[in-house]
Amino acid sequence: MCGVIGIYGHPEAANLAYLGLHALQHRGQESAGIVSSDGEHLRWVREMGHVGEIFTQDRLRRLPGSFAIGHVRYSTTGDSASKNAQPIAVDYSGGSLAIAHNGNLVNAAELRARLEDGGSIFQTTSDTEVILHLIARSREGSLPDRVADALRAVRGAYSLAFLSESMMIIVRDPMGIRPLSLGKHSKKGWVVASETCAFDLIEASFVRDIEPGEMLIFDKDGMRRVFPFMTEKPYRCVFEWVYFARPDSTIAGQSVYQARERMGRRLAVEYPVPADVVIPVPDSGTAAAIGYARESGLPFGQGLMRSHYVGRTFIEPSESIRHFGVKLKLSPVREVLAGKRVVVVDDSIVRGTTSSKIIGMIRGAGAREVHLRISSPPTVGPCHYGIDTPDRDALIASAHTVEEICRFVGADSLGYLSLGGLRASIDCVGSTDEHRGLCDGCFSNSYPIAVAPPVHSRQLRLISA
Ligand code: AMP
Repeated sequence: MCGVIGIYGHPEAANLAYLGLHALQHRGQESAGIVSSDGEHLRWVREMGHVGEIFTQDRLRRLPGSFAIGHVRYSTTGDSASKNAQPIAVDYSGGSLAIAHNGNLVNAAELRARLEDGGSIFQTTSDTEVILHLIARSREGSLPDRVADALRAVRGAYSLAFLSESMMIIVRDPMGIRPLSLGKHSKKGWVVASETCAFDLIEASFVRDIEPGEMLIFDKDGMRRVFPFMTEKPYRCVFEWVYFARPDSTIAGQSVYQARERMGRRLAVEYPVPADVVIPVPDSGTAAAIGYARESGLPFGQGLMRSHYVGRTFIEPSESIRHFGVKLKLSPVREVLAGKRVVVVDDSIVRGTTSSKIIGMIRGAGAREVHLRISSPPTVGPCHYGIDTPDRDALIASAHTVEEICRFVGADSLGYLSLGGLRASIDCVGSTDEHRGLCDGCFSNSYPIAVAPPVHSRQLRLISA
């Protein structure tokens, strides 16, 4: 769960990267960073925190140049710590190089153990640093060839932006698991971003998705594309459409908002129920709840209000203020709920704790019945490719039936969208094969890339205080 952005050939590259990172903030809230190049030197700023807090005007002024890459991070592999903030920048025999990565490598621990046995010294615990070591050790001549050589050794999901003094390289893994799109700025230069919503903010126009396995090279000669890997069947992450991407983004030609609305419509067909009002869990369930209401003909209401000023909550103070975390974020609208038969729509159930608190809150506001509808299938497996899901044991649906989950969350009924319904809602690139080019391992337990057994890699013992 991360976002990347790259700007090439614009005099205010760092400023544009900063604005683009604002639009990608939902992809990672732990740390953010920008590396810029003025053609001679790379300069970086990266820190823990949100984009708006980290980048003051003064800091942005210290990032001159017409090339920049940026990153927002939500850790999947590696600790949440400032040493793991990206872009990571290094000096090596070929010059300076920075990398920003969205995705997760499944063989990073194995590669790292091998590199460490050969004497490599790592500065981070993130899987991304492995790629830099492989590039530095490559015997290829040009930077694009070194990058391709390094990436042939890694397996997993990667949407990557590299920046050297004079070149930006963008790569998407051969399965295209994480999204990555190309845009053009209305005045000058190229933009690459994890999601198209970043283009709208900086007045860039969408050109196309970067294709699975494609490498784009930007340098003084302009932009060129190469396909350095063996062709593979695409497996775009289905969860981007379900939850992760912003509804105003388009992935593989498919509007995230419209896909979610279709999921809600199909859910209404698969799990209808007599009720008085359909409400979303904001914001994750909103588009699907609109679809459910339209298809069922039931009125749509805002039965829960969300505070936009709460980040992630870490304190659960005491028994006396139970459900503190959820209460900080959501509060019920009694006028919508009291005496009603309520359908509440959310995108997914992970551990089940949020849903049970929300249902308690809706009942507390006087609802007569609460019917929970989920616009994706039961989450039965973890993601190995960059979405932060807990281990299988913590996923309520990995070991419990729908009836058991319904009882646990305290709903009168529970309906999950079927896998077929989900796939059909994402009318991806018109393919007719069974998966429509989608990775849905978290729902199907069928994973496109085998995950290497865990290798015990040496952990960093240095602690920054
Ligand atoms: P839970 O209490 O674990 O069942 O939380 C379910 C809620 O978490 C739903 O409202 C989802 O929108 C949201 N959610 C789903 N996947 C993730 C994720 N990977 N990270 C954070 N929140 C998530």
